[in-house]
Amino acid sequence: MSEKPRDGTAPPFTFERSAELVAANSCWIAGGVSSNFRLGIAPTPLVFERGEGPYLFDADGNRLIDYYLGMGPMILGHSPASVRDAVHRQLDSGILFGGQSEIEAQAARLVCEMVPCAERIRFGSSGTEVVQAALRLARAATGRRLIIKFEGHYHGWLDNISWSTAPALNQAGPASEPVAVAGSAGQEAEAAEGIVVLPWNDLPALEARLAHGDIAGVIMEPAMCNAGVIVPGEGYLEGALAACRHHGSILVFDEVITGFRVAPGGAQERLGVRPDLAVFGKAIANGFPVAAIAGRADLLDMFATHGVLHGGTYNGQCIGMAATVATLSALTPELFATLEQRGARLRDGIADRLAEAGIVASVTGFPGIFFVAFGYAEPAKDYRDLVRRDQVGYRAFTQALLSRGVRALERGAWFMSSAHDDDVIDATLAAVADAAHEVAPQLRR
Ligand code: PMP
Repeated sequence: MSEKPRDGTAPPFTFERSAELVAANSCWIAGGVSSNFRLGIAPTPLVFERGEGPYLFDADGNRLIDYYLGMGPMILGHSPASVRDAVHRQLDSGILFGGQSEIEAQAARLVCEMVPCAERIRFGSSGTEVVQAALRLARAATGRRLIIKFEGHYHGWLDNISWSTAPALNQAGPASEPVAVAGSAGQEAEAAEGIVVLPWNDLPALEARLAHGDIAGVIMEPAMCNAGVIVPGEGYLEGALAACRHHGSILVFDEVITGFRVAPGGAQERLGVRPDLAVFGKAIANGFPVAAIAGRADLLDMFATHGVLHGGTYNGQCIGMAATVATLSALTPELFATLEQRGARLRDGIADRLAEAGIVASVTGFPGIFFVAFGYAEPAKDYRDLVRRDQVGYRAFTQALLSRGVRALERGAWFMSSAHDDDVIDATLAAVADAAHEVAPQLRR
């Protein structure tokens, strides 16, 4: 019997080979994955062979329409020719100099031109790392110790900031005065002493705490994108900035997800509020490990003049810089207009298909990143609103999607890229309609 190879673009989409490989690789890689955020994915963490445009090709021979997009970086889709070509050219002239380069200066200039608050920048290699640079600058500039962070906001996995990113409500204390809940076993308990956790989108709570006069900095996702996609209430960001100014605290926007995704200049451009400092990663280099801290010149220059240490062997590495220049150069107003129009069609189409299947859901956020929550129809204001959603039912929905060749994050976020064209969106919406009808009868009432 001759076995015809599958073309991989139609059912059955099954994932046995990925499961086998993850199990086998667990001999070398802890849990078979290199990040805890890739664990526990049903039916199995997937193993991929290739990415192209809106598609990923996996070890089982499936071609999947991908909305993970590397957890956000692939704003131009997988392996876009412009980024590949720029990286190939750079490889021929050098990788890492332990010094400065013209390509680094070009990348810096582009960030400063695109991002409203960016009078100066420094490059790093991950979001986690540049968050630390921002917190250190805030403490150095104010001579104070404490940092305010918000429940449900994620700023990397390190001990001093990984508090209350996704706390269980029975451990999280009262809504108005949340308790700092550790994100990890083994986390240094004393690190909580440098942190104040507040509810987000609650200006009086922020103003009241800032009034103590002991806060070095306030860090927030300007639109909350990790535990849902929630746009701040009218006047919240403006009020937060004014209160920080009034009480001598530094406002830091964590734009690792929103940067170069919700607008060329990030959430600060789209929502019209300029923080003192902002951090970027993900979409800045379409998948290469590049991050940046940007902001007021007087603050950033403290790295050079006031003994504030910022280091990193790979900061400004030429391959990443070439990818940054190619990516940011591609993010034209025309590209964003198309992305917005297609992303809105996808977002609104998903909302319609779910409603047609009788599923109660909220679909919120931007065309470039939005969030689908089951069992919850009102607009959410903060983490505690969304934690009540039907996460089990949504997970069943993403599995039903995956078995139809669409890969969407189990937590509810959808990332868009400029490579997802109208045909891909039509195919996605057909899968959504089908999957919605399959899971609707089993959802929480
Ligand atoms: N901040 C935010 C808002 C993020 O979403 C993330 C990663 N998901 C980080 C910081 C940490 O970035 P990285 O994973 O590159 O260290």
